[in-house]
Amino acid sequence: MSNAAIDLIIIGAGPAGMGAALEARAHGMSVVVLDEQASPGGQIYRQVLEADARRRAVLGDDYNVGAKLAADFLQCGARYLPNAAIWQVTPQRQVHYLIEGRAEVLQARHLLIATGAFERPMPIPGWTVPGVMTAGAGQILLKSAALVPACPLVLAGCGPLLYLLAVQYLRAGIAIEALVDTSKRGDLLRAWRMVPAALRGWRDLLKGLGLLAELKRAGIRHVRGACNLEVEGTDRARALVFDSEGQRQRIPAELILLHQGVVPNTQISWSLRLEHDWSEQQLCWVARRDAWGETSVPGIFIAGDSGAIGGAGVARLEGRLAALAMAGESAQARPVQQALHRARAARPLLDALYRPPPGHRIPADDVTVCRCEEVSAGDIRRHVDLGCLGPNQTKAFGRCGMGPCQGRQCGLSVTEIIAGHRQVTPAEVGYYRIRSPLKPITLAQLAGETLPVEEPS
Ligand SMILES: Cc1cc2nc3c(=O)[nH]c(=O)nc-3n(C[C@H](O)[C@H](O)[C@H](O)COP(=O)(O)OP(=O)(O)OC[C@H]3O[C@@H](n4cnc5c(N)ncnc54)[C@H](O)[C@@H]3O)c2cc1C
Repeated sequence: MSNAAIDLIIIGAGPAGMGAALEARAHGMSVVVLDEQASPGGQIYRQVLEADARRRAVLGDDYNVGAKLAADFLQCGARYLPNAAIWQVTPQRQVHYLIEGRAEVLQARHLLIATGAFERPMPIPGWTVPGVMTAGAGQILLKSAALVPACPLVLAGCGPLLYLLAVQYLRAGIAIEALVDTSKRGDLLRAWRMVPAALRGWRDLLKGLGLLAELKRAGIRHVRGACNLEVEGTDRARALVFDSEGQRQRIPAELILLHQGVVPNTQISWSLRLEHDWSEQQLCWVARRDAWGETSVPGIFIAGDSGAIGGAGVARLEGRLAALAMAGESAQARPVQQALHRARAARPLLDALYRPPPGHRIPADDVTVCRCEEVSAGDIRRHVDLGCLGPNQTKAFGRCGMGPCQGRQCGLSVTEIIAGHRQVTPAEVGYYRIRSPLKPITLAQLAGETLPVEEPS
């Protein structure tokens, strides 16, 4: 079979990518799945097949269910390419990737982008000093290397992942000084209209309540309704300071893990110039898709968190749905669509409860926003005063977004800072023009790129 005959190339072996591969293989499609990780699982099930019993006990049941999914995936007949970093995708569905130091290309009839999410940056004063990390980074170290903090830590921000990590650290015997939560008890009252619909997703809600109860039983100090967070310390983190109950409070800590939710990884969809919309519900960009996940370029689909944040259950179902459409089996989709409807039910409530506050997304002038090029929020506002209308122009005005992270850490903040200063909507301001290479590639690798070759069937 020639390369042109690959029915489906999937980028990402998380729940969305694995769900799609299983479904597509069940309908006889030829499938190639690429992922830069060394084993399948994505973020939630990272290295689930390698984890020993102790790590599994710490990470909990939701992690362990991934073992069966990953094992089934490896058996399903899809060709799986781990350690493959995709650096370019074309609208003609050519996928360029680096593997073992070589550049290779594959051609697909259909393409599924299932690249998941990354954490929303939390640009508060002091977020760049040593000793401050994201909660997700802490969890990656735990899942991939069983590495845990050696000193007491403070977790700060909002969102289910923050509670989950706190519980996982507790089970691992790690000392937690405090959980400083920017969400408030009253948020539930304000979101009460969403509660009845969210009850259809009662399992997800119960899981969240279970995590909070576990933290309470362990006696973890849980501050709610904190605002104006700041990390104290110039050479390294010394303390977290914040306002709560009308007072400025200070908790000494040398390790502070920040988190305020996750946002879709839209690097590939932007680089393909797909149509995107600003989601006011999730405060991020989402690629426009139809009910099957197909984007504005026919034959290119998106499933899972890289489309919109929905969690692992939604990701897996969206992957299956996209595969059914690509296999021409949409008549069989009804049970998947019904399950998807239920799985999405709690999301609007979760988005409302854990909406990151404006001050932690749109920082004051002296806070660094673009960490790669050391550009502050004040610099960006000054660029706007000089006539800079959007994120792309900030590159020309002051190199903002031109560093190695390619806007992954500053992009959303830059959009919102400019929108706020110009007093227009984020949709009007737009986003960076993302270009390949999406991953670092040397000229020698580029020159040696292997053109499409015959693929084994
Ligand atoms: C750091 C972090 C930790 C999380 N932990 C949890 C958790 O413990 N529990 C939970 O319920 N939810 C967690 N989430 C939320 C999680 O995103 C979803 O629940 C779920 O994993 C989404 O599934 P997915 O298949 O859409 O994406 P993912 O599971 O994220 O899978 C996407 C895959 O795409 C690959 N990829 C991305 N870009 C490229 C590229 N250019 N080249 C090659 N491969 C690429 C990634 O390596 C990854 O394996 C976490 C999110 C983050 C950001």
